[in-house]
Amino acid sequence: MKHNTMKTKRLSHSKQDIETAGKLLREGELVAIPTETVYGLAADALNGEAVKRIFEAKGRPGDNPLIVHIASLDEVEDLVAFVPPVLEDLADAFWPGPLTIILEKSDLIPEEVSAGLDTVAIRMPSHPDARAIIKAAGRPLAAPSANTSGMPSPTTADHVLHDMDGKIAAVVDGGPSEVGVESTVLTLCTRVPRILRPGRVTPEDLFEVLGEVDVDDAVLGQLAEGAKAASPGMKYKHYSPNAEVYIVKGSAKGFADYVHARVGVLAKEEAAVAALVFDGEEALLNCVTLPFGAEADSLSQAEHLFDDLRKADDLGVSEVYVRCPTEEGVGLAVLNRLLRAAEFRIIEVE
Ligand code: AMP
Ligand code: MG
Repeated sequence: MKHNTMKTKRLSHSKQDIETAGKLLREGELVAIPTETVYGLAADALNGEAVKRIFEAKGRPGDNPLIVHIASLDEVEDLVAFVPPVLEDLADAFWPGPLTIILEKSDLIPEEVSAGLDTVAIRMPSHPDARAIIKAAGRPLAAPSANTSGMPSPTTADHVLHDMDGKIAAVVDGGPSEVGVESTVLTLCTRVPRILRPGRVTPEDLFEVLGEVDVDDAVLGQLAEGAKAASPGMKYKHYSPNAEVYIVKGSAKGFADYVHARVGVLAKEEAAVAALVFDGEEALLNCVTLPFGAEADSLSQAEHLFDDLRKADDLGVSEVYVRCPTEEGVGLAVLNRLLRAAEFRIIEVE
C-alpha cells in the first residue's frame, strides 16, 4: 500500500467519527489523535507492521521507542513482566493524566514499540477523545508526538496536517492540547524512580507520592558524545523549527538590547528575527514578538511554546530569540524543550 499518496481524512470528535478512527486503527492504519499533552500519531500497539509505519511517517530514528496508551488500569498487566506495587499509588495520583511510566515489558510488546529495549513506556491519557478512541479501537495504541521527527510537537489538528497530510489515514480534531508539552516520563526500572523527561507532572508532585525521585542529568544537560541515553529520545536535536533558536538569559531590558543588535545585523542580509517574550513585554521590542505566557506562569508557557515556534517558521524568520524560563515546577519541562530546540545555545545578558 502506498502511504505517501493517501488522502488524510480530517475527522471530528463525533461519536461516529471516533468509531471510524477506531476501525482504521484496527485495520492497521495510522490516525493522529488529540491528547491533553500534544497530538499523538497512533497505531495498534500490538501490530508491529502498523507501528513500523509510524517511524516511516515521522522519519523517526528506529532506536527511539514509543509510548503505549491505555484507557483502563487493568490493561497494564498483559503489557508488562510484573506490576510493582508503587504503580497503583502513581496511577491513583496521576492517571488518567500526563505521566508516562516505564516498566519491564511482556512478550506481547512488539520489538518496534520498545525499539529493542526490554522495557515499555505506558500512559493513560485524560483527554476524553483519546480515551474514546482507545476504547473504540479496542486495543492499546502506540503513539509518539504526531510531528515530523525533530520539529516542534503538534498542539492542534492543523499542526498535524502541516506535517502529516498525505502520510496518514486520518486526524481527529479535538481542539488545542491543554498542557502543550509531552508527558513526564518516569522510569521504575532504576533503584530510585527517575524522571527521564520533565512535563506537567513535576518532580515535586512525584516526590509527594514516591518519597524519593531522581532527575536524569540529561534533562537539563547535554549527553556526552557516545554516551548511552536512558531515554533515547533525549539524545536528538528536537522540538526545533527551521529557524535557529537561541535562549537569552537575563533581564527584559538586556534581552531587548541584545535582540535589537541582531535585528540590525540581520536587516542588512534581509533576514528577520522573532522574539518569544513573556506577556506584557511586547512593547520593549522592535521586531515580531510572540508572547508565550506570563513570566511567572509556566503552565501558560508550556501551552504556547510549540505553537509559537511553529508560528516563527510561518513568518519566515531566520532566528528566534527566547526569554529564558525558570527551572521551577513545570518551567523545568519548558526549559528542557527549549534547550533542545536551541541545541543548547544560551546567551547571557545583563
Ligand atoms: P514522544 O512520544 O515522541 O514524545 O517520544 C516518547 C519518549 O519516551 C521518547 O523520549 C522516548 O525515548 C521515551 N521512551 C519511550 N519508551 C521508552 C523506554 N522503554 N525507555 C526509555 N524511554 C522511553
Ligand atoms: Mg516526540
